[in-house]
Amino acid sequence: MRSPGRVANLLAVPRRAGLGIAAAVFVAAALVSAMLLPPAAGAVGAVVRYNGPRSVTEVALTFDDGSNPENCHRLLAILEEKGAPATFFPIAAAMPLDLEFWRLLADAGFPIGNHTMTHPNMATLSEAEQLKQIESAKVEEERITGAPLLQVFRPPYGSWNHATVAAAATAGYPVVLLWDTSDRDTSLRGTPAQMLAAAEAARNGSVILMHCGPNATPWVLGPLIDSLRARGLTLVTVPKLLGLAWQPGPVTVPTTAQILGSLSPMPEASMGGVIVGAAGYTPPSPGASLRPTPGAPQPSPSSGPSVTPSSLPSLASSTAPASASPGGASADIASTAPTASPTSAGRPSTGSMTDVIVLVVMVMLGALALAALAAMTRRRRRSR
Ligand SMILES: [Zn+2]
Repeated sequence: MRSPGRVANLLAVPRRAGLGIAAAVFVAAALVSAMLLPPAAGAVGAVVRYNGPRSVTEVALTFDDGSNPENCHRLLAILEEKGAPATFFPIAAAMPLDLEFWRLLADAGFPIGNHTMTHPNMATLSEAEQLKQIESAKVEEERITGAPLLQVFRPPYGSWNHATVAAAATAGYPVVLLWDTSDRDTSLRGTPAQMLAAAEAARNGSVILMHCGPNATPWVLGPLIDSLRARGLTLVTVPKLLGLAWQPGPVTVPTTAQILGSLSPMPEASMGGVIVGAAGYTPPSPGASLRPTPGAPQPSPSSGPSVTPSSLPSLASSTAPASASPGGASADIASTAPTASPTSAGRPSTGSMTDVIVLVVMVMLGALALAALAAMTRRRRRSR
């Protein structure tokens, strides 16, 4: 421990004083920078993850929304048939479209996480409003499934800010999960073969975003599972990939007949990421403006060739891409980037007032540091 006299001596030396000021400014600038950057492990609030460890040959399939219950059934039938784990993030308000499906899914041991109550753009809400979305979704989902919810939060459109991680932590969620790979099944562009190719970008530790809604997704899922496994990748749940505690309830294995009933195994429209809204369900704002209105004319399924999942690879060469609908839907990728690349998925939303203030403070600190250095140089010259 230094004595007060020594400290005074140190401060009296101009060069050391200049270094001290510079160090203080550096520390302050680092602290402010840390405020600007997305929270990392150990920071206050939930941890934001885009993927699992790159050292493991595991990937996690994730399915969001649940806006088309029939396709939810089809996806589950494929997952069960192939013995493939997956994690679901339903919009809680869409679950009453098919309560039985979500009970079946929970009973089958699939983890179900939180994707808000009504699918808002979280970055446009206050922290209190975001917390309400997360907490009300938890209550609703646990009421419907009768099982504890996976404590992982996925923000709609991959849109989040610092209030989101704070709200998630307050609600008891240690992880906010985005993704590093997507089949882009809500882009309304491209063929299932192109969507398959996009999802095949998955590598060690990848989290793959797909949707429980678009007609294209069931066509992509089977070939994708086969392709990932052929590359030596093991499909796991999100809690397994991220090392989170999670215990399914009593697990029953539903039969294909139980899952599908009289439903055909594949949707009719096989082209593009067409979301066929279920009767009586209007996707909540802002999704409502991004998606086709339920009942709106869809591309005629009969105009396309008859395809089976095994014929997918030849589809791209034998057919022209579906004509893109204007203002293509993008249920979980920000509307400003409907074909967002994996690397741009779910970055924190910036431009809020607090970020502007923080930027101004940073510039001021930089100016202070320069002034301190200049003063130090002047003193040194004077003392010579
Ligand atoms: Zn979503």
